[in-house]
Amino acid sequence: MTQVMLHNTMSNRLEPLAPLHAGEVRIYTCGPTVYSFAHIGNFRTFIFQDVLRRFLRSQGYRVLQVMNVTDVDDRIIQNASHAGVSIREYTEKYIQAFLEDISTLNIEMPEELVRATDHIEDMVALIETLEHKGLTYRSDGSIYYRIAKFPEYGKLSKIDTHGMKAGARVDVDQYEKDDARDFALWKAPKAGEHFWETRIGPGRPGWHVECSAMAMKYLGDTLDIHTGGVDLAFPHHENEIAQSEAATGHPFVRLWLHAEHLIIDGQKMSKSLGNFYTLRDLFARGHKPSTVRFLLLSVPYRRQLNFTDDGLKQAENSIERLRNFVDRLQTAKFPAGSNPEIVKRVQKAEADFDAGLADDVNTALALAALFDLVRDVNTAMDRGGFLQQDAPRILAAMEKFDAVLAVLKDDDADKLRKLGLGSKTPALPPQQIETLIEERLAARRRRDFKRSDEIRNQLADSGVIVEDTKDGSIRWKYK
Ligand SMILES: [Zn+2]
Repeated sequence: MTQVMLHNTMSNRLEPLAPLHAGEVRIYTCGPTVYSFAHIGNFRTFIFQDVLRRFLRSQGYRVLQVMNVTDVDDRIIQNASHAGVSIREYTEKYIQAFLEDISTLNIEMPEELVRATDHIEDMVALIETLEHKGLTYRSDGSIYYRIAKFPEYGKLSKIDTHGMKAGARVDVDQYEKDDARDFALWKAPKAGEHFWETRIGPGRPGWHVECSAMAMKYLGDTLDIHTGGVDLAFPHHENEIAQSEAATGHPFVRLWLHAEHLIIDGQKMSKSLGNFYTLRDLFARGHKPSTVRFLLLSVPYRRQLNFTDDGLKQAENSIERLRNFVDRLQTAKFPAGSNPEIVKRVQKAEADFDAGLADDVNTALALAALFDLVRDVNTAMDRGGFLQQDAPRILAAMEKFDAVLAVLKDDDADKLRKLGLGSKTPALPPQQIETLIEERLAARRRRDFKRSDEIRNQLADSGVIVEDTKDGSIRWKYK
């Protein structure tokens, strides 16, 4: 097992991953707020987390990952009230869309995907603990955290908060508080809006308390890893630390990992610039799920990712290269035997791939190891240095790489169809395509060109491209 090193925002250094529970890594991930569709910047962070968890599993760790779904916040409550529906009804559509999106991008489901509205009691209990410790105050029916009582505040983001004036826009809350840094743990109900009747009074939870309560409920007082976008470090994660550490007296998180921003064509993504994309926007423009996944994972998470049409084109070509390579390994015929040089070469690629990811999830290094292997093996095949028994060994390595990358399976067309996009005709199953290709060959051999053309058109209509290869065999792929 390679020693995994991760960059901890708290220490600003690479640190070895050393899970608290032997063999199991416990991860908390700040999830989506479900008042609209998630944008591709969100998915950059979610894909980083997916690559991390897939890599840890490939290294033999069990992963216990919790992701929250924020299905209660000011916007959700307002929008639900305006629409005259319950919070559940209002958020359901966006939760379903999020689940579809992560499955379309091959993002694995976390072991626990938890809704804030199912954990009000846990949040109330945490707020009570903080109240008993004298860390809170009440004002107009809301309960606030008194940051002056938590001297370590700011240790994660290194932001000096002492000079912050009341009224400074530190948090999105529009409530009265004693200190600009203070934040609402519990918010008094507003007329006509939904609230919960609880032991600490009527109202609804603040956003920050959600994550602390749910993380500790499922993962214990101290988590191995907490991830999120870089914009969450302050104030959200500082507030999580203040709540959790003051309540338990233990360190909340051992390793804080923050993913950098995604920008579009060198500019910040924003609705006013017209460059704000959801996944579905990209699919509607003809991009494939695998392309988007590849582009989002190809840049190491601590570097800003510039999302461009060129980048999408390159990502699509890269995947094409990998899929063609696997296809060649599966279908081409080579001389019998095994070449020890090839075996050594693939072992090196596997070691380099793992070493890249163990180096703070450096996906650029891992991909370089993979594409170097593809280049060298293709060259060996062209020159006759590749032997038949080498094929299964390389295919096994490709399967290992893809357990982390998850881009090899050619199912883009099916996925788009499920989202109501792309071609309306269902894809032909591979077996049926093979049979049709055989039948077309037979028709040509008996000079039945009418039948041969019919089959070619049928395949083209189903989005199947048939190619003749150098060695005389026939290859096909989905458009
Ligand atoms: Zn959070």
